[in-house]
Amino acid sequence: MGNAAPRGPAVEERLTQPRRLVRQLSDLDSDRLRRLIRSGDLAPCFDAAEEDGRAVECPICFHFYPSLNRSKCCGKGICTECFLQLMPSKASKAVHCPFCKTAAYAVEYRGARTLSEKKLQREQNFYSEFLTGRTERL
Ligand SMILES: [Zn+2]
Ligand SMILES: [Zn+2]
Repeated sequence: MGNAAPRGPAVEERLTQPRRLVRQLSDLDSDRLRRLIRSGDLAPCFDAAEEDGRAVECPICFHFYPSLNRSKCCGKGICTECFLQLMPSKASKAVHCPFCKTAAYAVEYRGARTLSEKKLQREQNFYSEFLTGRTERL
């Protein structure tokens, strides 16, 4: 699965920096983090959102976010800041998944894309219903 170039506006600078970290990360590679967020490989460091039915809760810090990273092993969501607590830099030693304990924990981010895919799907459904309806009427 290749990573498509990010569409839409670039991620705001402030969302590429963690702000809620529980402990200081001396080995945080912030340039790499910014790159990963900008390229859409990691969820932006969102401001915690209100629970509005669409926000998703990070099972580790219990904040709500517009979207989360997904654990490659078991599909569990995790926010970028919690992920950084586990793996602050590329040099961090491999950790186990905090949810299912799979070795060599890794995440992927499809949040934003999934949302736009959902929207696209809805639009396509709408148009096909619309077209079908029209065909029947003709
Ligand atoms: Zn979290
Ligand atoms: Zn897992």
